[in-house]
Amino acid sequence: NSNSNVVVLPTSVADEDSKENIIGLDKILGFSCPPKGGILTNTVARKLSMGGLVPQSEPKAGLIGGGGIKSGLELKTITENSSTVGSRILVFVRVRPMAKKEKEAGSRNCVRIVNRREVYLTEFASEKDYLRLKRLRGRHFTFDASFPDPTPQQDVYSSTTAELVEGVLQGKNGSVFCYGPTGAGKTYTMLGTMDNPGVMVLAIKDLFAKIRQRSCDGNHVVHLSYLEVYNEMVRDLLSPGRPLVLREDKQGIVAAGLTQYRAYSTDEVMALLQQGNKNRTTEPTRANETSSRSHAILQVVAEYRVRHASMNVVNRVGKLSLIDLAGSERALATDQRTLRSLEGANINRSLLALSSCINALVEGKKHIPYRNSKLTQLLKDSLGGVCNTVMIANISPSNISFGETQNTLHWADRAKEIRTKACQAD
Ligand code: ADP
Ligand code: MG
Repeated sequence: NSNSNVVVLPTSVADEDSKENIIGLDKILGFSCPPKGGILTNTVARKLSMGGLVPQSEPKAGLIGGGGIKSGLELKTITENSSTVGSRILVFVRVRPMAKKEKEAGSRNCVRIVNRREVYLTEFASEKDYLRLKRLRGRHFTFDASFPDPTPQQDVYSSTTAELVEGVLQGKNGSVFCYGPTGAGKTYTMLGTMDNPGVMVLAIKDLFAKIRQRSCDGNHVVHLSYLEVYNEMVRDLLSPGRPLVLREDKQGIVAAGLTQYRAYSTDEVMALLQQGNKNRTTEPTRANETSSRSHAILQVVAEYRVRHASMNVVNRVGKLSLIDLAGSERALATDQRTLRSLEGANINRSLLALSSCINALVEGKKHIPYRNSKLTQLLKDSLGGVCNTVMIANISPSNISFGETQNTLHWADRAKEIRTKACQAD
């Protein structure tokens, strides 16, 4: 069992104090750093969505400047048996850098990553304390990979999502979730910044690249939609308006009236997503200045068309869902007496429903309670079953967040069991 609780203390403990590398949320949201040529308005974006096939040429100049693969992560160890990725849930952990505020509050690092997979969570100040008291507190977890700070965005993408993109081109659905408390790095991981774009943008860039490689086989068309579940209401982030109604049709659950944009290049996609993120519902709470209380879902649909003599036939359709979940912190941590508590309850409803679905999947139940929340209804075709699912648990390194980090790691550990069960069943 890879998750045995034998604690092997690392011979050299990782750098305690992470390099200062804080990038404001405003940057992510594009307020202070609009993309070249400015943020697209919805009208422009809609024009983009009208007609034409995905160009076979190189997408416009590189958004993808920073990063580069250099951390030396052994990606092969993660996908050691890629042919079995099918019904497995792969679970990853990413530790963000220590925040300025956390440093100023005198916090220390309570998370250590060893062997690129194992995460040690300890409340103790020093290695000596840890050796002495390890039996009393702290824990050891093993994941498919764990990303310490700093790990380039490109490495996170390559390890977690690249294979799902390949699957999508073969008609297989996939989903990637970022889970964790507010401020733990979910949006950074999913959306990133102009200089360091995250999984959403890198996935689409890779999708275009892969399509170009295969362009002689036929024509691929890529559509994307970006929506949020907030307070158990579904909203179109690319074309904000009234809440959307979920309906079930032959293709599964669909949000009626959701705009689907034809995507052409990564530049446009980043601009669209930044515009969409501006439309996300963020509210101040007591616990956090800007607490993202909505779940954001980017759905990328790739259609592979084979041209027959008289008509186009859609041969395969694959869908990739990339989900930036709302903060997983307890509603108790926020102001209970305001509207926020209702929102908290609803966020918990969606997250609880997600947890229930995961539990049911872990236990191999026939009935998976997707209907319990809007989030799980939307993800019905992208969680469990034959689709590829990836969880990225985001955590802070600071001991101030010890409790939240512990909860997050426990949740991730539970999600991991879906894979284990699936393997045993094989
Ligand atoms: P969340 O979406 O989970 O609430 P954010 O992604 O907004 O958290 O991250 C909180 C802050 O930490 C942001 O200022 C963000 O830029 C920064 N941050 C998070 N992860 C990283 C990382 N891996 N590298 C650098 N900065 C990060
Ligand atoms: Mg966020």
